[in-house]
Amino acid sequence: MKRILREVFGYDAFRGPQEAIVSHVIAGGDALVLMPTGGGKSLCFQIPAIARSQAGHGVAVVVSPLIALMHDQVGALHEAGVAAEFLNSSQSFEEAAAIEQRLLRGEITLLYAAPERVTSPRFLALMDSLYSRGKLSLFAIDEAHCVSQWGHDFRPEYQLLSVLHERYPTVPRMALTATADSLTRADIVQGLQLENAAQFVSSFDRSNIHYKIVEKQEAVSQLLRFISDTHEGDCGIVYCQSRKRVEEVAERLNKEGIRAMPYHAGLPADVRLANQDKFLRADSDQGGWIMVATIAFGMGIDKPDVRFVAHLDMPKNIEGYYQETGRAGRDGALSNAWMCYGLQDVVNQRRMIDESPAHDDFKRVMRGKLDALLGLAEATDCRRVRLLAYFDETYAPDGQARLTCGACDNCMSPPDIWDGTEVARKLLSTIYRVEQQSSLHFGAGHLMDIVRGKATDRTAQYGHERISTFGLCAENSELQLRAVLRQLIATDALCVDAESFNTLHLTTGSRAVLKGEVPVLLRQSVKPVRARTPSGARLAKDDASQSPMDMASQERLVSLKAWRAEVASHHNLPAFVIFHDSTLRSIALLNPTSTSELSSVSGIGAKKLEAYGEEVLRVVKTTL
Ligand code: ADP
Ligand code: ZN
Repeated sequence: MKRILREVFGYDAFRGPQEAIVSHVIAGGDALVLMPTGGGKSLCFQIPAIARSQAGHGVAVVVSPLIALMHDQVGALHEAGVAAEFLNSSQSFEEAAAIEQRLLRGEITLLYAAPERVTSPRFLALMDSLYSRGKLSLFAIDEAHCVSQWGHDFRPEYQLLSVLHERYPTVPRMALTATADSLTRADIVQGLQLENAAQFVSSFDRSNIHYKIVEKQEAVSQLLRFISDTHEGDCGIVYCQSRKRVEEVAERLNKEGIRAMPYHAGLPADVRLANQDKFLRADSDQGGWIMVATIAFGMGIDKPDVRFVAHLDMPKNIEGYYQETGRAGRDGALSNAWMCYGLQDVVNQRRMIDESPAHDDFKRVMRGKLDALLGLAEATDCRRVRLLAYFDETYAPDGQARLTCGACDNCMSPPDIWDGTEVARKLLSTIYRVEQQSSLHFGAGHLMDIVRGKATDRTAQYGHERISTFGLCAENSELQLRAVLRQLIATDALCVDAESFNTLHLTTGSRAVLKGEVPVLLRQSVKPVRARTPSGARLAKDDASQSPMDMASQERLVSLKAWRAEVASHHNLPAFVIFHDSTLRSIALLNPTSTSELSSVSGIGAKKLEAYGEEVLRVVKTTL
């Protein structure tokens, strides 16, 4: 298997648990693989597929929901000389039939298909035939968290995959995902009948991602500042809650001279695909592209040089946040995860849960998950430690447990903390008095007017200027009051009634705060500071992108990139599928004169050496 790693993929060493996983599966074992995005999951099933096929066991079926990405995934395997194909709805009947024939003739090593296809009667019949001849080598179920209804990517078709084990009990199966808290993990094991599978759980720490969460004031202006300060010309993803907002933000960015395009489920399929392709094929050397998207975008996106992921609105839970931010920095270079959130986000997310038609148990779980995310957003201590703790992991970068990472906003500039207990009590007792006085409920804005002593038509109309708390928080800013309300809602000491204009109501949890039994500690709201590119995050060891380059190497790199762009467009594939940036950098620095020298570079396997070796040498030689 080391031979396959070197010859096919051009890599010298396995990463983390890859080796253990690969040898377990080659030997016929089942496996559940949890590895963060960019950790190298693909090799975990591709190498066993190749090894088992060479040993005469036939084809590996890769189940993936990512129809729009199958073309590029299979293209990347072709570049490495692997017999891979896909079956999906983008093909004509004849094309699909031709692949089925090749499948039956044993000419395919890896076959990618979506779960609905794999469980269709026609495909099951094909697999029956292969199975009876011992020619089904492996099932690899990618994005396995889709089986869980608690996850944000629930796909009911995934639950049909239990048929694989029932029908083909001797075929090894592996499930892979980059996101799974303990609940989702249990669902995967149960839904895919992996009770006896070996579990391989990698560290979820993405050390090259720097986390920052800021308080929402004018979200789009904050985003613009973040981009112009730290990410000019970079490729990045901006997540928004709604389709409408996606369109607005993309338009605004373009107006400001930043290249951006929208992506959401309401756009026609061809526009979505075109935008996705444009993003995947974008090269930051030629000015990056920003994808402004709903969560419909991103699963399986393997673009290595996404330099930032920004959340303009808060996601539903930590899994979503982690998965979305994880799309930054797959190449191991420094990247930013930036989120902006405010009271309205809390209110909106709560309302979406309350108004959903789901049953109460489901809502309770969803609320718990939202609270965990609110806890992360309001945290005054290390974000990374909290994020990892959510996935049951202790942050221990060198085997030593630590409480700070040095590469998140809270570690780099610890926030001031202020005690909001008194203010919280004044706000809650105002609500209590207003309720007592008139049995009416009001929203956050009106309540803040009362405690700040701001006389308005409404305070006059309802006689709220006579309430004893009127003006008691005159010295507190609106920002501070909002922060307190956010905490109270986040901790269930206050609830929002969506059905009557987002009015605020007391809960059973209010009492403890009113009595002063529960302290309310908050981060001091600060004016957004102008951040520079973070300096704290460490780089992954094999990242060559930061090594200094002399002039001649730089010129070689420019020529190599131009050559790669041509090849990529000729093959209709993203440039990184031909060679990664890090591979081109290594070539530029090495200045090789022979194919044997070239073959030592990481990322050049036998097939690529044969296909491109001479040309690369020519490009290197003719660059002066
Ligand atoms: P994910 O876990 O997100 O699916 P991928 O399988 O796409 O991650 O791998 C991320 C990147 O790391 C890819 O560019 C891949 O080629 C590279 N990679 C994976 N394993 C190794 C390895 N052992 N040595 C060097 N690069 C590797
Ligand atoms: Zn930290």
